[in-house]
Amino acid sequence: MKKGLIHGSLTLIVVGLIIVLMIPSWIEDRTNVVLRDETWPVSSRTQAFHDNLRIADLHADTMLWNRDFLTRGNIGHVDLPRLQSGGVVLQVMSAVTKSPADQNYVRNSSTARDMITALSIAQLWPPRTWDSLLERALYQAERLHTYARRSEDLWVITSAQGLSDFLTLHQPGHVATLLATEGAHPLEGDLDNLRKLWDAGYRMLGLHHFFDNRLGGSLHGESGEGLSEFGRQAVERAVQMGFIIDLAHSSPAVVDEVLALSPKPAVISHTGVQGTCDSPRNLQDKQLKRIAEKGGLIGIGYWDAVCDITPAGVARSIHYAVNLAGVEHVALGSDYDGATTVSFDTADLAVLTQALLDSGLSEAQVRRVMGENQLAFLQQHLP
Ligand SMILES: [Zn+2]
Repeated sequence: MKKGLIHGSLTLIVVGLIIVLMIPSWIEDRTNVVLRDETWPVSSRTQAFHDNLRIADLHADTMLWNRDFLTRGNIGHVDLPRLQSGGVVLQVMSAVTKSPADQNYVRNSSTARDMITALSIAQLWPPRTWDSLLERALYQAERLHTYARRSEDLWVITSAQGLSDFLTLHQPGHVATLLATEGAHPLEGDLDNLRKLWDAGYRMLGLHHFFDNRLGGSLHGESGEGLSEFGRQAVERAVQMGFIIDLAHSSPAVVDEVLALSPKPAVISHTGVQGTCDSPRNLQDKQLKRIAEKGGLIGIGYWDAVCDITPAGVARSIHYAVNLAGVEHVALGSDYDGATTVSFDTADLAVLTQALLDSGLSEAQVRRVMGENQLAFLQQHLP
């Protein structure tokens, strides 16, 4: 009788453990998808050109997911071995800390049930992350720093000097990362938390995600408002400290106000363009143009913000942005691992190089968009 009870409890614990360990990858497998129903050939000439590029991507949400970043995975879009295969030298790692249930591009409530709470519990993150957006951001930074301590190939860049050292010492397979927030709600209404994010290594501050926050209106929120007083103070202090401001997901009013307020250029880390994809996810061309006119960067994504997610479709949006904003202002902003469906992961980036050349961009233009613009911008604007 007693033996049966122990046996029963053990079975229950083992089954429970298996479920807890499997749920996160089960979720991710359905959330960060690569459609592999077509292949796109890359010529040997393009592959050789691609292998000599310095590729840099302004946005991936990989630290949200528990899988081992140092091991090549078969789910999701990004890990260190796949960055190495794709020839990526710099990847911005963005921290998602809150996502509304029924997330959509048009209208989300800031009080909608938050999906990241459930995900942080399901992934057995430390309890301090379960009810604090700041702790979720700090924890994702800790995860990246831990990976960097475990691998000599992985760097976390926090300064222009650090980036310059990295590029000087660069060997094939070395990958730099830069920490960014996807929305500044981890400030939790307290400007002093900017310092905590800074000390954790964050250098790019995305102001918004899918909902209005204390800084102002989201592109997909309810108010459409510009910056709040707190938002103005946060942007001013962040710029003073040396943060790069990311306007992806911010309302048009916030974009205009930040561009008027800040003496420094801003980026829009991941977006599409209305000229090739008329989606409420995308800012109007005139705003993208203004970001470029102030010396900023526009990172074009690979998911449904470009409507056609084939390499040729992504290339069409990039080519449009080049014509709109000037080649020196266009960059990659994959949104890999951001609950997105794409047609190639980061290991397969040569298919994008091929598509860009096929679209009629010159090798010099492709070199800039694939990474040189991003590296030059960061060299100039990191502290
Ligand atoms: Zn995003």
